Amino acid sequence: MELKLLTKLLELPGCVVKDIIFQGDEILIAVEVEDFPVCPKCGQVYIKAPKDSRTQKVEDLSVFGRRCFLLVKKYRIDCDCGYCGTEHHQWLDPYQRFTVRYRKWIYSFCKRMTGIDVARIFGISKHTVYRLDKEGIEEELVSQDAVKPRRISIDEISRKKGHNYATIISAPDEKKVLEVVKGRKSEDIAPFFKGKGIQWCKNVQAVTMYAWLAFRKTVRKYCTESIICFDHFHLAQHFSKAIDQLRVQEAKNGSKEEKEFFKGTRWLLLKRPEKLNEKQQTTLDELLKVNMKLYKAYLLRDEFRQIFDGPSVHSRLVRQTNWKKRAKEVHISQITEFVKKIERWEPYIRNALRGNYSNSFAEGLNTKIRVIQRMAYGYKNFDYLRLKIFQQFNSREIKSLFDG
Ligand SMILES: [Zn+2]
Repeated sequence: MELKLLTKLLELPGCVVKDIIFQGDEILIAVEVEDFPVCPKCGQVYIKAPKDSRTQKVEDLSVFGRRCFLLVKKYRIDCDCGYCGTEHHQWLDPYQRFTVRYRKWIYSFCKRMTGIDVARIFGISKHTVYRLDKEGIEEELVSQDAVKPRRISIDEISRKKGHNYATIISAPDEKKVLEVVKGRKSEDIAPFFKGKGIQWCKNVQAVTMYAWLAFRKTVRKYCTESIICFDHFHLAQHFSKAIDQLRVQEAKNGSKEEKEFFKGTRWLLLKRPEKLNEKQQTTLDELLKVNMKLYKAYLLRDEFRQIFDGPSVHSRLVRQTNWKKRAKEVHISQITEFVKKIERWEPYIRNALRGNYSNSFAEGLNTKIRVIQRMAYGYKNFDYLRLKIFQQFNSREIKSLFDG
């Protein structure tokens, strides 16, 4: 009676519970598969069970807080088709020491936690966890539909402090990461476009990127129908850099008294004004009062942001022209340098202003990837980092372990 109930609870196709053994903290359930053994290669059904069999211990989902293992009797098949090995079961991957549902359970934890945490919680090795995580991601990737975006975005991430870069190609409208490649040179990213094929590349109408020649060159070569836009997120970063250089210079040249005002103002100058608290705002106000150059630069930076908020193509283009004019008039060398860059990049910036594409995905991308990198302590293994990025962006989000 108990075994019948247990068979029902176990709910593995064709499986019948024959015995239950309590061994220390573990529960061992001996099961037999009632269906006739089948050759995994040719499908031949063996009505008369083969003589040879062995029992395999595989982990299944825990029961009432105790680890649970199945003792599965597996027949050895020596088939006419040439197959020689054990039979397979759909709920148990060949050569694995756990059931399919256990593997999926572990995988869903990997989506939200670090591999080391998962390994600790389940008492299995971190190498096993990494392997299951990788296999799970690959399985999910295969099942996904290919996207054919009209707009793509190319961005870089730095893998370690210094010059270890990776390039991320994404489809911001579809909110999907398309590829992550090592490096940021033409030869690094060209294989992606080659692999996608001519038709796919021709379908791309706009590519958003930052000012990096290798990206531009490659896109021009492959996405022949596409315009190139520089995203304002990166342009704003360039401008922030210019302001920071100005701040450093002014702090150096200032009198002893003035120097006091510069202390701890680096981030205040770069932060969005609406994100400053009252105290920060006061500190910043005092600095801007004593330093006219910084004050002018600060106003320009705010205005620069507003260019991209213009409600129409016309207004954005006009705002940009006016901004350049004013920026030239302040005669601050760092800003003049920046304006020169802007002028050099003019066509790409105007493309961006005409299209007014949303940047939210690209910006979110950067933040999220930093989190992924931190969680994995730097991901020494690039292939795994690549898969983790795919997992965090493209796969179904786990809200509850019980949501199917
Ligand atoms: Zn066979």
